[in-house]
Amino acid sequence: MAKFVLIGSGLAGGLLAAYLGRRGYDVDLYERRADPREGNIVGGRSINLAISTRGIHALEQIGIANEALQHAIPMRGRMIHDKSGTLHFSPYDVDPKNCINSIGRAALNTTVIEAAQRYSNVHVHFNHKCTDVDLEAPTAQLETEHGNVTGHGDAVIGVDGAFSAVRKSMQGEIPSFHYDESYLAHGYKELTIPPGPDGSWRMEKNALHIWPRKSFMMIALPNPDGSFTCTLFWEFEGPRSFATTHSDDDVHRFFDEEFPDAVPLMPTLLQDFRENPTGTLVTIRCAPWFYRDKVCLLGDAAHAVVPFYGQGMNAAFEDCVALDECLEEFPNARERAFTEYFYRRKENADALADLAIGNFIEMRDKTASKAFRIKKKLDHVLEGALPGFYLPLYTMVTFTRIPYAAAARRARLQDRIVYCGFICLSVVLIVLLLRSMAH
Ligand SMILES: Cc1cc2nc3c(=O)[nH]c(=O)nc-3n(C[C@H](O)[C@H](O)[C@H](O)COP(=O)(O)OP(=O)(O)OC[C@H]3O[C@@H](n4cnc5c(N)ncnc54)[C@H](O)[C@@H]3O)c2cc1C
Repeated sequence: MAKFVLIGSGLAGGLLAAYLGRRGYDVDLYERRADPREGNIVGGRSINLAISTRGIHALEQIGIANEALQHAIPMRGRMIHDKSGTLHFSPYDVDPKNCINSIGRAALNTTVIEAAQRYSNVHVHFNHKCTDVDLEAPTAQLETEHGNVTGHGDAVIGVDGAFSAVRKSMQGEIPSFHYDESYLAHGYKELTIPPGPDGSWRMEKNALHIWPRKSFMMIALPNPDGSFTCTLFWEFEGPRSFATTHSDDDVHRFFDEEFPDAVPLMPTLLQDFRENPTGTLVTIRCAPWFYRDKVCLLGDAAHAVVPFYGQGMNAAFEDCVALDECLEEFPNARERAFTEYFYRRKENADALADLAIGNFIEMRDKTASKAFRIKKKLDHVLEGALPGFYLPLYTMVTFTRIPYAAAARRARLQDRIVYCGFICLSVVLIVLLLRSMAH
């Protein structure tokens, strides 16, 4: 059996190692950080994430969905907080069973790594940082506290996130490699709403909370311990931005003006704001995601997207299923398997990147408006009236496994039909009105 060297035991790396281990491959998984079970995982990334149908399906296929989801908190819709503190709840779907789930990154990462380690042919090596990959060999150079070592295998897979070292080696060695990165003008900072004195949630537990403020927003996802993790998405530069907010007074003034209902729930606001890092939001598109039968990219290493559709990890998990299927279809032709995997996933990753940026505008700006709430209600009415024919875009992306690109195309077509329908209906009504006035 072939041997795979995987770089990165984040969310997708752990899951992919489990899939490859199940298929009988030898796997050496190298991770630059310490073992997450030693409590050293988050390192500036989101503490919790929303997992939905695509991600859950990938966990189910390897038999760990129940284990992973045991502490997840279902979120049935968006709870919109306007500036006066008034709340509006907008369900995610017409079917109340369809919800997204807030799940802790650390716990999920541990679950996928432990799933991989159940296969005796998978070996995980923490504190090994990949510095370079020789694509032809293929080998990975790894830095450890005891010196440098080389990881040997039949193929190296880069599952090392948005700033992938494996992808960097491909950029350096493949002249035709296409690479594009684009950063939003916004950064993000995580803040905390701790549990109430009795350990309970101080806002609606089963919702994703949004404070939409046109050019920026704050969101909050529930955690099992009764707390919420809030994320402020705000401009880096500008008259009111991360750059101009330095003193505690500046921070308090901004939060009092914009999020007055949240401030009393955030006793550590000033400390969180000062001490927590400000993250960047990057979209990465590259091609190809493989080099012959020797190197391949998966997850954020291949296609990092901004987090506003809550799909980056879900898409990375879907990649694991797709690569596993391709390796099954072409067991003796790894280059063919990598090629198929790339072509099946690339247009979907590109579509998701566009959808994710579009959803930022929807979340921070449109969710605050009555028009948005009416549109969502209309979506649900149409979905109920035309089952199987009309599916809102959010539903297709979040609660089905329709490929992202097909979902985006179908949503555009549905919108055109609905708009045409409205125009025709309006014309008919006007004609009827004019005729009745003429009589
Ligand atoms: C603020 C925020 C909120 C998000 N919310 C959601 C959400 O709600 N739902 C969702 O689906 N997605 C969400 N995402 C996206 C999600 O976090 C990523 O898509 C997901 O983590 C990708 O998994 P990955 O395994 O490809 O990469 P990562 O999770 O980044 O894992 C990469 C791993 O590789 C390791 N590594 C990196 N470089 C090296 C190296 N040189 N050598 C060895 N190891 C290395 C890292 O330490 C890490 O363990 C969010 C992202 C952000 C930033």
